[in-house]
Order: sequence, then structure tokens, then C-alpha cells
Amino acid sequence: MSRTALIIGSGVAGPAMALFLRRLGWEPAVYEAADEPDDYTGAFLNVATNGLAVLDELGLRDRLLSDAHPCPRMVIWSGRGKRLGEVPNGPAGEPERASSVLRRGWLHQVLREEATRQGIPFTFGARLTSITPLAGEAVRATFADGTSAEADLLIGCDGVGSVTREFVDPSAARPDYTGLVGVGGFARSAGVAPTPDTQHFVFGRRSFFGYLVRDDGEIYWFANVTRPEPRAGEIRALTTESWLAELRDLHAGDPDPVPAILAASSGDIRGYPVYDLKHVRQWSRGRVVAVGDAVHATSPSAGQGASLALEDTMALAQCLRDAPDHAAAFAAYQRIRQPRVEQVVEYGRAISNRKTISRNPLAVLARDAVLPMFLRRAATDRTTRWLYDHQQSWETTVTTVATPGR
Ligand SMILES: Cc1cc2nc3c(=O)[nH]c(=O)nc-3n(C[C@H](O)[C@H](O)[C@H](O)COP(=O)(O)OP(=O)(O)OC[C@H]3O[C@@H](n4cnc5c(N)ncnc54)[C@H](O)[C@@H]3O)c2cc1C
Repeated sequence: MSRTALIIGSGVAGPAMALFLRRLGWEPAVYEAADEPDDYTGAFLNVATNGLAVLDELGLRDRLLSDAHPCPRMVIWSGRGKRLGEVPNGPAGEPERASSVLRRGWLHQVLREEATRQGIPFTFGARLTSITPLAGEAVRATFADGTSAEADLLIGCDGVGSVTREFVDPSAARPDYTGLVGVGGFARSAGVAPTPDTQHFVFGRRSFFGYLVRDDGEIYWFANVTRPEPRAGEIRALTTESWLAELRDLHAGDPDPVPAILAASSGDIRGYPVYDLKHVRQWSRGRVVAVGDAVHATSPSAGQGASLALEDTMALAQCLRDAPDHAAAFAAYQRIRQPRVEQVVEYGRAISNRKTISRNPLAVLARDAVLPMFLRRAATDRTTRWLYDHQQSWETTVTTVATPGR
């Protein structure tokens, strides 16, 4: 069985994958395109109980939660300031298993620091450009600066724009644009009270808005701006000032405290066009396999993308541990993971569609009339438990089937 691995990407999946491989006695090395760790990137995210279980397996749950906002309740408001309802952020009736909201950079940092502590090397400024299978039992990664690295396996944790995906399944469809650009940041405003255990969501008149206020007064906020698919680089080119001007205008007539939060926002603001990706036929090819958003991106509306990426890393490591060879491991990994992740992508898609803001006043009236009923049902809905109740135990042996000829 192989023992060295090139891991492409140091987002959520990359360092977690490296940690699980290290546990198996492997020598993983992580290569990340960004020039340095960026502890702002992506503002904040929601990690669900199933993702926290994987972090627990890695011994990192408590450290991660030492700087997080536990968030069992989500309260939803209309653009006129009417409370439309409340739903649990996690399995209904089990607030102790709720999701937590935390800075994305903090999640990256906790994983990366533990990997570094265990001696796993990280190379920043290493943008994978091509993958070459080598004769014998190795694969080569070539990076944009002309350097390269070789190992027994290459594991692509390189996110929704994955170069690895192009290699493992050149016929894969491109990710689908959800119609939304996510943009978020941080603020402090004396007039906005803490929201213990709670995140608020507002169907603003022209854009969807979410916020929470931590006990120390720090506000985490985001907006989902309905927008046609941007051209390559268009969103990256937008400055903090232009975002703030646009968002203050979009949310000017929305209920308090939305305008106050945007008035007080400080620091960098970046936007992320939101894509999802439901089905990639082939997750591996030869000695190369892809993990996380690279093969199944779910809209942030499900609050599950990071958790699924973490689940993947543990599953793939277990398959590599229990299978007779890497081909059998990769096949088992895809067989085990694909039905679940595709179901979550579908679920996220349905929520995303509801967040697209209509400019038609009649459609808004209809939505605000129907949503309270829907939310009342959702508050006690146990049919979504499958999202959170995913059973994954490190001790369980994975059933694998040898796949000759791959
Ligand atoms: C606006 C927004 C909000 C979100 N909110 C949530 C949320 O609340 N909860 C949640 O669970 N999920 C959320 N998600 C989804 C979540 O961020 C992803 O599902 C998760 O980050 C996937 O992890 P990953 O490691 O697969 O990919 P990423 O975290 O995207 O990591 C990929 C890494 O690979 C690097 N990389 C890319 N290409 C290359 C290359 N060619 N060579 C080397 N390195 C490369 C990137 O720089 C990056 O560091 C959100 C996504 C967006 C866009």
C-alpha cells in the first residue's frame, strides 16, 4: 500500500486529509495556491454536528469551539420587519447537537496548526497546473511556478474550481451558478445587542441578509446578493468600498439593525459567487482522487459544505486503511460518499432557490404569507435528521471490493 501523498489545497479538506493519513503512518505533504495562510478568507461559516464529530475524531473539536458562536436557533424576518418564524440549526428538538458559527480562517488555522505540529509540511504559493501519471507507481504534480513534486498518490482538495476534477473526470459538467453572490464581514455597533444562541436572517427587499452578535459585541454578517453570473475575475476586482456602497444601498430600506450593521462594518469585505456541483461521474483516476467541493459543492444555504468535506477525508482515509490497494479504496470511497453528498447538494439547492429575492411585490407578499406556515412545520421536522445523523466511526472496517485493472 502506498505511503506518500500530495495533498492539493489547504482549505478545510486538505489539512484534515493530511491528519487522517498521518494517523495511518503516511507521509502527506500539502500544497496550497495562496501565497500565505489567509485567516480572513470567506468570513465565517456554519459547522454542523456531523462536521464537528469529524473534528472530534481529530481531537480538535474543543479547540475549534473555544472561538465559536453556538447557534441552535435561526430566526427569520421579512423585509418589513415581521418575524416570520424560527427553525432549529441542527436536528429538531436537540439544541445540544446544534451547529456552531465560526470564522473560516479559524477553522483553517486550527486544522493547519495541528498538521504542522505533527510535522506535515505545507508549501504555499503552489498552484497546481497539471497532473502527470508516471510509469511505475507514482504521480507528479506540476505547479504554476514550474516546480513539481511526486508521490504515490495525489489527493485533490482544491475546492469548487478544482484542477484535480478536470484530471479525474475531464467530461465533468462545470459547477452550476446559484444566482447568488455571498459577501460577508464583521462589525461592531454599540446599538446592536448580542444574539445568544441565535442567528437572524432577513428577506431584505432587494437582498437576503444574515447576522449574529457575539457576547463581546462583535457582529458577523453576510448578504446573499441576487446577481447574474459574474464574468471571471469580476467579483474579485470589487473593493471593500464598492461592496459597502452597493450593500448599503440594497439594504437601505430594510428593518433594523441591518442598515446599522452595514454602517458599522469594518475590515475587508470580499464576495464569492456561489456555485454548486451535484454529480461528477468519476471521483478518481489512476493514483489521483478528489475530495470535498472538488467533486460535490453544496450551496452555503445547507450549512453543510465544510462538514461534508470533513466527512469525506475520514471516509477516504478509512478506505485507504482497509482496502487491498488504492484503486479499491477510491472505488469504495466514491460508492460510500456519493449518494449522501448528492442528497445534500439537492437539499441546499432547494433552500438557495428560496433565498433568491423577487422584485415582484405580489411574489413577496405571497412568500411572506406562506413562509410562516412552512417554518412552523420545519421547526419540528424530523425528516431532515439524515443531514446530521450521519454515522461514521473510525473503528468500523470499510467493506471494499478489489477492482482489478484500474
Ligand atoms: C460564500 C460561501 C459561504 C459558505 N458558507 C458555508 C457554511 O456556512 N457552512 C458550510 O459548511 N459551508 C459553507 N460554504 C461551503 C464551504 O466553504 C465549502 O464546502 C468547503 O470550504 C469545502 O472545503 P474544501 O476543502 O473542499 O474546499 P476549500 O475550502 O474551497 O479549499 C480549497 C483550497 O484549495 C486551494 N486551491 C484551489 N485551487 C488550487 C490549485 N490549483 N492548486 C493549489 N491549491 C488550490 C484554494 O486556495 C483553497 O485553499 C460556503 C461557501 C461559500 C462560497
